[in-house]
Amino acid sequence: MIKRFFELQEKILSYHPDANTELLKKAYSVAADAHINQRRVSDEPYIVHPLEVAATLADMKLDEISISASLLHDVVEDTDYTIEEINRLFGEEVANIVWGVTKISKLPDFDVENAKAETLKKMIIAMTNDVRVILIKLADRLHNLKTLSVFPQQKQQRIARETLEIYAPIAYRLGMGKIKMDLEDIAFPYAFPEEYAQISKELSNQKKWADERLQEMHDALQRLLGELSIPGSITYRMKREISIYRKLVRQNISLHQVYDLLALRITTDSIANCYAILNGIHHNALWQYIPSRLRDFITAPKANGYQSLHTTVITRQGIKFEVQIRTPEMDKIAEEGIAAHWRYKEGISFLENDQRLQWFRDMIEAHRNNPNPKDFLSLVKGELTPNEIYVFTPKGKVINLKAGSSAIDFAFAIHSQVGRHCKSAIVNEQMVPLRTVLNSGDVVEIITDKKSSPTADWLKFTITTRARKKIIAHLQRQENVMAEERGRRLWVKFLRTVKQKHSLKISETELEDRIKKAHFPDLETFYREIGSSKKIFDKLFIKKVFPEIPTPAISKEPVRNPRGDSNYKLVSVEGYSDIDITFARCCAPIKGDQIVGYITQKRGLVIHRHNCAKVADVMSTRLKSVTWVENNTHVFLVRFELIVSDKPGMLSKVTGVTAKHKSNIKTISQERISQNVAKVKMVFDVLNTEQLQKIYNDFVGTKGVLSVIRRKVISE
Ligand code: MN
Repeated sequence: MIKRFFELQEKILSYHPDANTELLKKAYSVAADAHINQRRVSDEPYIVHPLEVAATLADMKLDEISISASLLHDVVEDTDYTIEEINRLFGEEVANIVWGVTKISKLPDFDVENAKAETLKKMIIAMTNDVRVILIKLADRLHNLKTLSVFPQQKQQRIARETLEIYAPIAYRLGMGKIKMDLEDIAFPYAFPEEYAQISKELSNQKKWADERLQEMHDALQRLLGELSIPGSITYRMKREISIYRKLVRQNISLHQVYDLLALRITTDSIANCYAILNGIHHNALWQYIPSRLRDFITAPKANGYQSLHTTVITRQGIKFEVQIRTPEMDKIAEEGIAAHWRYKEGISFLENDQRLQWFRDMIEAHRNNPNPKDFLSLVKGELTPNEIYVFTPKGKVINLKAGSSAIDFAFAIHSQVGRHCKSAIVNEQMVPLRTVLNSGDVVEIITDKKSSPTADWLKFTITTRARKKIIAHLQRQENVMAEERGRRLWVKFLRTVKQKHSLKISETELEDRIKKAHFPDLETFYREIGSSKKIFDKLFIKKVFPEIPTPAISKEPVRNPRGDSNYKLVSVEGYSDIDITFARCCAPIKGDQIVGYITQKRGLVIHRHNCAKVADVMSTRLKSVTWVENNTHVFLVRFELIVSDKPGMLSKVTGVTAKHKSNIKTISQERISQNVAKVKMVFDVLNTEQLQKIYNDFVGTKGVLSVIRRKVISE
C-alpha cells in the first residue's frame, strides 16, 4: 500500500514541488495504522479508500492540508483516534476539516427525512465555514460510488439517488463540473436502471450517425477557424444519458427534439476571439443560428462562475448542433469551480466573499426562523436542482432564474429597488401582468413606479428565495407601521378616559417613564404591541402605570380590541398577522367555503366566498389569499328558503332536521305562496360546510320539501 502512497506523493509533487511531504507521510502513517485491521465491504484493505479520496483531491491539484485531511477523513469516525489526537499531531487546520467531515459523515437513511434535513443543514454550515470539508465529502462519495457494486440493490439505489439529489447539485453549485459529471454518470444507472438502459440503447443506435454528423460539423468549424485565422481546438460529444433523461422527463419531448444532443466545443486563446468565432458562426451560409438559444455566459457568468458562449445552429438538413465557445481558463473554471481556489499557490482569503458560498449562506439564512427541517430539505432540493431559465434584459444581459419564476422574481433579481417598485412588465415587447411566468429566451423589461409597493398577493406569484424574502420583509415593516398607528390611537383614547374618570394629572415624560418601567423598551414598541393586540391593558399593567388608581375601580371598558380582532382566530392571511378582518354580508362565507380576502379602505380585509360576484372583477392586487384556521368552535349564521307543501307538521319536520344535526335556529317564519305551497324562511347556525351539507341533504330528502335554496344575504 505504501506504493500507492508514493504514487500519490508523486502526483502532488508534480504540481506542487515544495509540498510538505513530511505532513503527508505522517497523515498516511496515522491513517494506515488506524485502519490497519479494517476492510471495505469489497474486501480491500480499508486504507485504499482514503488513498483514493486523496488521489481525487490531488487530481484537483489541492494543497497538502486538504490532502492530509482527506487521508484522515474516516479516522475519527471509524477508529480509536480522537479529534484531540488529530489536533495534537496535525494542528488545528487539518483537525477542523477532519472534524467537519466527521460531524456530517453519516447521512441517515433516505426515509428519515427530518434527520436527513438536519444533517444536510450541518453539511452546508460546515461547508460555508471551510469548503474543503465538502470537497472531501464529494471525493469520498465518488469513491463510494465506484465501489457500489458490492452492495445489495436497494442500498445501491438509495445511495445513487441521494447522490443525484444532493451531492451532484452541490458540486454543480460550487462550479465543479468535472466531479459533478463523474458523480452523475456513475450514479444514474444505479438510480434509474430501466431509464438508463432505454436511453443508452437509443443513443447507441444513433451513435454511428451522430459521430458522422459531428465529424462533418467539426470539419466545417475547423475550416471556419482557418478562414478567420483564429487559433482554436474543437472537441465534440453526444449529450450524456442523464442530461437526456432530465430533458425528456422535464419537457416531455423525444430524443430528436433535444437541441443540444450534438454539441461541439471550441477552445480559443482570448475572449475577443470567442466573440469573433461566434460572429463567424452566426454569419455562415451553411446553417442558420437560432437566436432564442444564444447564451452569453461570458458577459453574465452563471451563479456558479461558469463562463462560455453557447449558440445553436440548424443545418439545411435540419440537424441541430450546439456550439460552445470559451477560453482554456473558462474551461478550467467549468471543470474545477471553487476547488481551483485551493491550488497550493493561491490564497484563500478572498473566498469569504465567494458568490458560490454566499448562495448556501442565503439558504441557511432564509430558513433561520423555520423550525421544520423538512421545509429546509425541500428548500435545498428545490434550489439545488438546476432547473433554470435564462431570460434577458433589454440590453441583452442574461438573468438566471429558477424555472417557474415570474416577472416579479425577475424584478427582484435585477435590483431590490426595481422589485419593490415594479408596476408592470414588458415581455417580448408585449405588456403583461407582473404575475406572468417567464420562459427561457424571454426579453423582459420592468416598469417601475415610486408609488407601487409589494402586496401580500405577490407571494402567490414569486418562487425565488430572494424575492420572497424581500416581499415578506416589506409587508412586515408595513404591518408594524400600521400597528403602531392603531396602538397610538387606542392609547390616546384610553388615556383620555382614565384621566377624566380619575382626574389624574401626569406629565408626558412621567408617563413615558412609567411605560418603560412596565418593560417596554420604547414607546414605538409599546404602541405596536397594543396595536397588534399582543398586549392589552391588563390589570397588572394598569397597576404599574397608574398606581394612584384603586385596582377594583379599573374597568377594561375603554379599551376595545381592534375591530374584527376575534375574526383572527377564524382565518389566516398569508403575509399578515395583523389586519382588520370582517366577513362579507353579501355571500356570508362559512368555514369550509373557498374564500378570498378583499382589501378595502374602511373595513380592512373583507372575507368573501371565492366565487362571490362582488370580487369577480376586483383587481387581483387587492385580493389576498386566506385560509380557514382549524380547531375552533365559532358558529356561522346561514339563511335558507325552503319551498314546501303546505301541510300540517311541515315546520316540525324542518326543525327536526336542524335539531338532528345540533344546529340552533335563530329565526324561522312561514308564508303561504299558493293554495298548497308555502315558503319557509329560516336562519340557523352551523360550524362548517360539512355540517351544512348534511343539513342540506336532509332538507332535500325530507318528504314534502320541494326546493331548498341557500340565500346569500343574512337579514339584519
Ligand atoms: Mn469515507
